[in-house]
Amino acid sequence: MEFEYTPEQVQLRKAVREFAEAEIAPHVAEWDEGQIFPLEVIRKLGRLGYMGVVFPEELGGAGLGYIEYSIVIEELSRVDGSVGIIVAAHNSLCTNHIYKMGSDEQRRRYIPQLASGEWIGCWSLTEPEAGSDAAGTRTTAVEQDGCWVLNGAKTFTTNAHFADVCVAMAVTDRAAAQHGISAFIIEKNTSGYRLGKKENKLGLRASATGEVIFENCRLPEWQVLGRLHEGFVDSLRVLDGGRISIAALSIGMAQGAYDAALRYSKQRRQFGRPISEFQTIQNKLVDMAVDLDAARLLNYRAAWMLDHGRRVTRESSMAKLFASEAAVRIANEAVQIHGGYGFIKDYPVEKFYRDVKLCTIGEGTSEIQRLVIARQLLKSE
Ligand SMILES: Cc1cc2nc3c(=O)[nH]c(=O)nc-3n(C[C@H](O)[C@H](O)[C@H](O)COP(=O)(O)OP(=O)(O)OC[C@H]3O[C@@H](n4cnc5c(N)ncnc54)[C@H](O)[C@@H]3O)c2cc1C
Repeated sequence: MEFEYTPEQVQLRKAVREFAEAEIAPHVAEWDEGQIFPLEVIRKLGRLGYMGVVFPEELGGAGLGYIEYSIVIEELSRVDGSVGIIVAAHNSLCTNHIYKMGSDEQRRRYIPQLASGEWIGCWSLTEPEAGSDAAGTRTTAVEQDGCWVLNGAKTFTTNAHFADVCVAMAVTDRAAAQHGISAFIIEKNTSGYRLGKKENKLGLRASATGEVIFENCRLPEWQVLGRLHEGFVDSLRVLDGGRISIAALSIGMAQGAYDAALRYSKQRRQFGRPISEFQTIQNKLVDMAVDLDAARLLNYRAAWMLDHGRRVTRESSMAKLFASEAAVRIANEAVQIHGGYGFIKDYPVEKFYRDVKLCTIGEGTSEIQRLVIARQLLKSE
C-alpha cells in the first residue's frame, strides 16, 4: 500500500487551492446571496483542464485519474461547494456518461467541447415522481419515422439552466422495467427541449438546479447514448463514479469548515484564554479531524479502484455515505465552535452548514446508500 501523494498530486492541490483562493473566495458570499452562477470562473476552470479531468488528452481532457479528480473537487469545494457541484455534475455525470457509453462519433462531437468548458453539461435522471426510485421514470421516448420523440419532465437537474448539452433518461420499453430505459443526448437548441423552474435552494445557491422539459422533442437515432433500453443500467455505472464526486464535495466543504473552526478557536478568547485551550473544544476538533481523514481514505480507496478498472459500487457508496454524514457533523461542530458568530454571514461556516446537507441527499440519499451497500454485502456471502 502507498499512502503518499505523488509530487504531481501535491502540485495539483496547490494550483487548485491558489486558483480557488484568488478567483472564487472573494465572490462566494455575493454569488450565494444573489444565486449567481459563476459562468466566467467555469470557463477559466475549463481552460485549466478542470472541466475534463478524467478524459484522455486526445479528446481534450487532462488525462488524469479519479484521485486527481477528487483533489480538484475537494479544493474547489473547500472554498465554494457551489463551484464544486457544478464541476462535479459536468465531469462525472454528463461528460462521463458520454465518454463511457458513447460511440466514437459522439465522443468526438461532445467531449472536447465539454472538457474545455466551452460547453456545460447536465445529467437528468430524477423526476418529480421518480427520485430514489429512479427506475420509475415516466418520461417517454417513442420511435417515430426514424426519430425518437421525448415527452416528460425532469426535476433537480444540476446546471440545467446553463447547460449546452443534456444527457437524459427516458422509457423506451415500459414492459421491460429497468431494462426499458434509454439515455439520450440533447443539445440545448433542440426544438421541444425547454427549461422549467430554477429552484431557490437552502444551500449551494450559486449552482443552478432546475427542471428540464420535453414536449415532442424529436431526436435523430444517433442521439441515443449507449445501448438502447440499457440507459438506466448504464446510469448506475455512471453513479458509481458520481458518488466519488459527492464524497469529494463533502470532504472539501468539511475541510473548509474545519480549517475555519481551527483558526477561530485559536483567535477567540474567553475566560482569559483562547477557546482552543478548553478540552471540550479540542475534543470537537479531534473528532472533526478523525472524520475528515477517514472520509478521505475511504474516498481515495474508491478512486484508486476505479482508476484500476475495478467495480466500485460498494466502495463508492461507502465513501459517499460516510463522507457526507461526516461533513454534516463537521459543519455542525464548526458552527458550534464559532458560537454566535457561527450563525452570522460574516463568517464562512454558516454557509458550509447549509451547503453540506445536499451531500446526504444528492446522487442517492444516505438511506439509499445503505440499501446499495447492504445488497453488496449480502450478495458477497
Ligand atoms: C441540489 C440538488 C441537485 C441535484 N442534482 C441532480 C442532477 O444533476 N441530476 C439528477 O438526476 N438528480 C439530481 N438531484 C436529485 C437527487 O438525486 C434526488 O433528490 C435524490 O435522489 C432523492 O430523491 P427525492 O428527492 O425524490 O427523494 P425521495 O426519493 O422522495 O426520498 C424521500 C425520503 O425517503 C427515503 N426513501 C426513499 N426510498 C426509500 C427506501 N427504499 N428505503 C428507505 N428510505 C427511502 C429517502 O432516503 C428520503 O429520506 C439533485 C437534488 C438536489 C437537491
